[in-house]
Amino acid sequence: MSNKNFETEAIRTQVERTDFLEHSAPLYLTSSFLFEDAEDMRASFAEEKEKNIYSRFTNPNTSEFVDKICKMEGAEAGYSFATGMAAVFSTFAALLNSGDHIVSCRSVFGSTHALFTKFLPKWNIETSYFKVDETDKLESLIQPNTKVLYAETPTNPGVDILDLELLGKIAKKHNLILIIDNCFATPYLQQPIGFGADLVIHSATKLIDGQGRVLGGVTVGRADLIREIYLFARNTGPALSPFNAWVLSKSLETLAVRVDRHCENALKVAEFLEKHDKVEWVKYPFLKSHPKHEIAKKQMKAGGSIVAFEIKGGIAAGRKFLDAIKMCSLSANLGDTRTIVTHPASTTHSKLSEEDRNEVGISAGLVRVSVGLETVADVLNDLDQALNS
Ligand SMILES: *Cc1c(COP(=O)(O)O)cnc(C)c1O
Repeated sequence: MSNKNFETEAIRTQVERTDFLEHSAPLYLTSSFLFEDAEDMRASFAEEKEKNIYSRFTNPNTSEFVDKICKMEGAEAGYSFATGMAAVFSTFAALLNSGDHIVSCRSVFGSTHALFTKFLPKWNIETSYFKVDETDKLESLIQPNTKVLYAETPTNPGVDILDLELLGKIAKKHNLILIIDNCFATPYLQQPIGFGADLVIHSATKLIDGQGRVLGGVTVGRADLIREIYLFARNTGPALSPFNAWVLSKSLETLAVRVDRHCENALKVAEFLEKHDKVEWVKYPFLKSHPKHEIAKKQMKAGGSIVAFEIKGGIAAGRKFLDAIKMCSLSANLGDTRTIVTHPASTTHSKLSEEDRNEVGISAGLVRVSVGLETVADVLNDLDQALNS
């Protein structure tokens, strides 16, 4: 499934301009909007007309950002949030009731996992997990009260791939709401709605901004579900700021060209690492050696910007590698113009037991590289000298 007019939609989708007819979208830094008279105010609150009332509900800048993402993802409607996690939380909080059940892949973003294990159970919402390579067991986890099927693909940080078509079929058969976190792929590389997803979530903080500046999130998909999410968000206040929406809208105009180069560089990094004698194995969706390479090719336009590899020598070698890095950044973000390296076992996931880490596919020597847009030879040189140190 691919959107043939992707670049055009990213660039030409826009909200109405002011009387100045700005070519580039102006920034609407206003918390509220005026009404003409009592009748205009009544009709606006009654939702008899589409009108901006208050920026906690909607704002021209957030509307433009959401419209663009909807067109790129092939979605009916959407809503934008202050962060990716605000999008994830609000989506679940809006759609689930006490007693509902979620089936999720175990390899999900750390804070999403914390939401499932620490917070949703407070409202009597439980989650059952399947491992990335155990989708054959997925259906056995579905209960009469299961409402949502949730997954990310590619996964963070293991860069595993889940078969979207298969998830779409299972969700349809059991009447579940299929929610896909499409953050790693971006709407440019993969459009899950075409495979049966009901909702797609992005952390816009990552490749959508792509320059490490602002936080943001968005949920798009079926209009009836987005309506519930909108009503929840409008009353609870996780809205995206107009400024960040303006930044993100601009970023979408260059998403395709940026992501093309990210993928080109990442493939070169993956091929280089695969031949390196300090490297045990490499995982990148568009390497033939990836266990789900065929599925990746079916659902993604290219392999993405993230490469995972196993350094020989486990935890100690991973730490030594980070210390030897000269140019690349040690940072928690990903999808930035600057290449970022992390070693989850000694950093983000150091509190987990070895068994729990293996459960989510984080081995002792796993290194995640978010390949940036620098001259790729400079990235390769830095990785090479750090591996050989
Ligand atoms: C970063 C990330 C999130 C959370 O997004 P924030 O903008 O940091 O709140 C969710 N899912 C994935 C896959 C991510 O990488």
